[in-house]
Amino acid sequence: MSGIKENITTLKKEIPANVKLVAVSKTRSVGDIMEAYNAGQRCFGENRVQEILNKKDLLPSDIEWHLIGHLQTNKVKAVVPFISVIQSVDTYKLLKVIDSESQKVNRVVDCLLQIHIAAEETKFGFSVKEVTEVLESEEFKILKNVRICGLMGMATFTDNPVQVNKEFNYLVSTFKSLKLKIFKDDPFFKEISMGMSGDYKIAINSGSTIVRIGSLIFGERIKSEH
Ligand SMILES: *Cc1c(COP(=O)(O)O)cnc(C)c1O
Repeated sequence: MSGIKENITTLKKEIPANVKLVAVSKTRSVGDIMEAYNAGQRCFGENRVQEILNKKDLLPSDIEWHLIGHLQTNKVKAVVPFISVIQSVDTYKLLKVIDSESQKVNRVVDCLLQIHIAAEETKFGFSVKEVTEVLESEEFKILKNVRICGLMGMATFTDNPVQVNKEFNYLVSTFKSLKLKIFKDDPFFKEISMGMSGDYKIAINSGSTIVRIGSLIFGERIKSEH
């Protein structure tokens, strides 16, 4: 008994119906993903392109795949034909490549802009200043095959709930100010993806609309793998 089904059932009770659950399946087997699928889960998040490509053809085609990890521009072409959401857009250059590759396959791809909210240096993402500059630029306005649906952020990996709460509130206030300044009449700009296994309750209380949860569903990951 792996308990994946039970874990999903328990989580679903704790997550409000208007918050989307992305089951983070990086490093997990196709069998584990299938177990979550059979428990009703349809949306999965992966952080490596090659790993999604390896798994997706072995799994049902109605799975909605979210890319949540850093994406290199040379791998964009491989994901745009099928990806539901690219949550980890962290440069204008990447956005531009997603746009041109999406155009080639006649798609408009949903994207979230990743904002750097953690104290740690290593996490990817735009600063608020950078993202504002990009969104206000003419170079951004000409992109037609990307749809900016909101923001994504990762809080500092810490036990201190005060700090995590502060970082999530910063993401929410950034979202609100961009909504007013740039996306006022855009119904698609509505998502705030924040909250993982350790901090999803804080995230939901702060106004998260998407939580990305791995370990609480599938069990602890081996530390050396991502
Ligand atoms: C791994 C990962 C998660 C899920 O982490 P858990 O702690 O296992 O829930 C969420 N978001 C991103 C971007 C990740 O890389």
